[in-house]
Amino acid sequence: MASAPSDRKIRDYYLTLHRAWGAQHWWPGETAFEVIVGAYLTQNTSWTNVERALENLRTAGVLSLDGIRKIRLSRLERLIRCSGYFRQKATRIKTFVAFLDRNYGGSLETMFSQPTSKIREELLALNGVGPETADSTLLYAGNHPVFVVDAYTRRVLDRHKILPATSDYEEIRRLFERALESIPNDPPQAASSTLLLPSSLPSTAHPPSAMSGAKRTALVQVYNEMHGLLVGVGKHFCGKSRPKCDGCPLQPFLPGG
Ligand code: SF4
Repeated sequence: MASAPSDRKIRDYYLTLHRAWGAQHWWPGETAFEVIVGAYLTQNTSWTNVERALENLRTAGVLSLDGIRKIRLSRLERLIRCSGYFRQKATRIKTFVAFLDRNYGGSLETMFSQPTSKIREELLALNGVGPETADSTLLYAGNHPVFVVDAYTRRVLDRHKILPATSDYEEIRRLFERALESIPNDPPQAASSTLLLPSSLPSTAHPPSAMSGAKRTALVQVYNEMHGLLVGVGKHFCGKSRPKCDGCPLQPFLPGG
C-alpha cells in the first residue's frame, strides 16, 4: 500500500518531468471518437502501428461514428490489420458504437455528460474494455478526471520501489489521483523538487491537435500531462529489458541513487 511519502514522490516526478519536457499534447486526435478508436487500437501494439491504422480509416472516410456504423466488419478488419489483433479490435470498436447507439442515441456528448463512475462501469462491462482503455476514453476523449495507468507507469513505480509492477490497477490509479490532485492549486515554488536537469533531453511532445488542446479543467490537464510524460520516460529511458538511467529526468529519484 503506497503512503504519503509516495504521494510526495509522485508530485515531484510530475513537477520534474513537466519542467523537463513541458506540455505533451497527448492524446493526438482531431475528434473524441478518433481518440476512442485509438484507445482500442493501441491495445498490445505500438503507437506507430496505431497511426497507420488510423490513417487507413481516415483515407477510407470511415473514421467517424457513422463510418464505423456502416462499414462491413470484414472491411474494417482489413483497414486496421496493421494494428494487430485486428479481428478482436474490429469487433470491439463495432461493439462500442452499438453500445453508444443503444444507450445514448449515438451521442458521445450525452455519454460524457454522465457521472464518471457510471460511464466507467458501463465501459468496463463492454467486450474488450479493460481499465486502461476505459480510462483513456474517459480522460482523453471525455475530459473526465481519471488517471490512466499503463505498463510504463508500472515499470517506473516498480524500479523506484514505490509499488510492485504487479500491483492492482485501482491502487495505482488512486495513488496518482490522490498525489496529483493538489497540483493545480500549488504554486510551482511550493514543490520540493530543486533538481538539476540533464542539459540535453529528447523531445517527447506530440504536435498539438484539436483534442490535445480541448477545453478541460486544470486537474484533468494534470492527469493528461502526467500520463503523457510517463510515456516519454518509458519510450526514451525506461525500456522493458534495460533502463537507461543516465540522462533520465527521474534518475535523481532512484532509490540509492
Ligand atoms: S530509466 Fe532509470 S531513472 Fe528513469 S525512470 Fe527508469 S529506472 Fe528511473
